[in-house]
Amino acid sequence: MKTVDAVMDPVAVLHREAVEFTSALIRIDSTNTGDTATIGVGESECAELIRGWLAEVGYTGVWRERTPGRGNLVVRITGSDPAATALLVHAHTDVVPADATLWRVDPFAGEVNEGELWGRGAVDMKNMIGMLVAAIRSLAAEGWQPRRDIVLAFVADEEVEGADGMAFLVQQHPELFAGVTEAIGELGGFSIEGPAGRHYAIGIGEKGVAWATLRARGATGHGSLIPNASSAVARLTSALARIVAHEWPLADDPAMQMVITHLRSAVGADLEAATLERDIASLGPIARC
Ligand SMILES: [Zn+2]
Repeated sequence: MKTVDAVMDPVAVLHREAVEFTSALIRIDSTNTGDTATIGVGESECAELIRGWLAEVGYTGVWRERTPGRGNLVVRITGSDPAATALLVHAHTDVVPADATLWRVDPFAGEVNEGELWGRGAVDMKNMIGMLVAAIRSLAAEGWQPRRDIVLAFVADEEVEGADGMAFLVQQHPELFAGVTEAIGELGGFSIEGPAGRHYAIGIGEKGVAWATLRARGATGHGSLIPNASSAVARLTSALARIVAHEWPLADDPAMQMVITHLRSAVGADLEAATLERDIASLGPIARC
């Protein structure tokens, strides 16, 4: 195969490998159910494949695993400038569950249908791993060396809480990320169609999360009697309904101001902070982001 590839167009090789690698990863069921009783060894199998593809072009990494079967692979490509900071490029090998009865194709077949590669993980995010590994191999074949160190991290357990993946690595093995000042992950923003073409946004902030436990007390009742409006269940459900109905305000902060400024020029939309909630619907699918 090597002699064939040597005379092939390098871009054709890059394309072929990106699809082949993504497909091979999809065929490994690395479902993260969040329950250790049902999580298999798919994440390690994915990381083993990636390790092999990178080793073929001379890149070896370190394997770190908190839980058997949930391996994490970190590869550092040394840059030419020791004074430069490092760039982290990270991707996760796990996927969310797929109910095959709801799919037109086998979610773990990784087959090309209608010119597109279908399967669980095809967009989140085995596709990025396939493209990244193919790109790194292509660059390696050209004798490339980056100026700054590039740290590639392929991690387990992103879809639930990261305890066996990134949290474990940064807490127990922070040395793997020495010198890293920037990181590229799975998404920053969705692409936006504008008057001058398609725009690719960069994420500059994240929503937070606040978990709450609601407890209600009320008068007890009985299923045979008419509903009791002062029961704990009734109070709890009406509290939940009020949370759903609440109109959450847009954050008026520097990040949002920057988004508005750039959206104005990128898509030619007439946006102002004061009327953003009304006008954002005109931007189409990105409005819900
Ligand atoms: Zn993801």
